[in-house]
Amino acid sequence: MNDKKPRPARPLQPATLAAQALGWIEPATRGLAPAIQLATTFERDPDQSLPGGRSYIRPRAAAFDQPEALLAALEGGHAAMLFASGMAATTAAFQALSPGDHAIAPEEAYWGLKQWIMDFGRPGGLGIDFVDMSQAANVAAAVKPGRTKLIWAETPANPTWSIADIAALAEIAQGAGARLAVDNTVPTPLHTRPLDLGADLVMHAATKYLNGHSDVLCGALVTAREDSYWQRLTDLRAQAGAVPGPFEAWLLLRGMRTLVLRVRQSSASALEIARHFAGHAKLAAVLYPGLAGHPGHAIAARQMQGGFGGMLSIRLAGGREAALAAAARVRLWKRATSLGGVESLIEHRASVEGSYSKVPADLLRLSTGIEDTGDLIADLEQALA
Ligand SMILES: *Cc1c(COP(=O)(O)O)cnc(C)c1O
Repeated sequence: MNDKKPRPARPLQPATLAAQALGWIEPATRGLAPAIQLATTFERDPDQSLPGGRSYIRPRAAAFDQPEALLAALEGGHAAMLFASGMAATTAAFQALSPGDHAIAPEEAYWGLKQWIMDFGRPGGLGIDFVDMSQAANVAAAVKPGRTKLIWAETPANPTWSIADIAALAEIAQGAGARLAVDNTVPTPLHTRPLDLGADLVMHAATKYLNGHSDVLCGALVTAREDSYWQRLTDLRAQAGAVPGPFEAWLLLRGMRTLVLRVRQSSASALEIARHFAGHAKLAAVLYPGLAGHPGHAIAARQMQGGFGGMLSIRLAGGREAALAAAARVRLWKRATSLGGVESLIEHRASVEGSYSKVPADLLRLSTGIEDTGDLIADLEQALA
């Protein structure tokens, strides 16, 4: 035995990176939590130089440095940029294209994406087609050679949690000279790292799991590399100014420090809930990619690690009225939109999505929080009884 043999350094795991926010210490006080720099403007020296490296808050707020660095590390990316919301980040990715460019978007996705594409994206001059991304071949067939510049995917996708094969889409994008962007809000980097699978860009509605406490509106983009598209996004953010405030960025970092614990608990709970209610007499379906019967299970099992996320949906055998009645009877689950917070939420999606929605009227979407799993199951049982 040779104890002296040097071992390759094991990279620090996500739980460690997140808990210590990359180990950063506030330099002025040695504080373990960062100070909140609220200044919008920064002093120049007499020779006009900027010793602090910043002049004005809009292009690059000091408060963004740490949450951006931590998110880039968790996603295995080159760099990250915070935006004012998930939709601000999403629309920036489309707006950084040129008029006449073609993009492919998922037929099933966060409803606000389709709404924006129909109301602004297409009228603004982008050709954008919607495709069922549960089959990669559909995406390949929708590529317009030479014109397709962006493929946008979401997996698991709202609200039936259909699964897109990220590696297969990355190959299609690469072959077409397009970029693959993945909305990674639902799985979080704990369960899926799209950049490792060949994606070029990751989007987060940081409002959801990254912050995790239903009290911050924020979005983020993460890039695999520094390139002209990332530079264009940097310029777009600096010029258009869709950025969060320093306090939101501070709260986001605070939330991200417990990301791993929260997501592990939500995912474990969601799997237990899905298994418990699968086959329930009052339900027509339990939609969760962790169930072997889910159409995307095989791909999900391959591309997700450590769990299948905290989101699931149930379809009521009694249709729309039964769904609304069950949502009305819950006592513990909160009737509210959004997802990824510490408290569990239940929502009748068809009631809240706009006219472009195709969500079945019998569907209730569940965001599993970090409460006791047995309490959550008991409450749903009494609501379905
Ligand atoms: C909420 C959400 C968005 C939009 O994020 P906002 O911060 O509300 O703008 C985008 N994608 C997914 C999957 C979401 O859940």
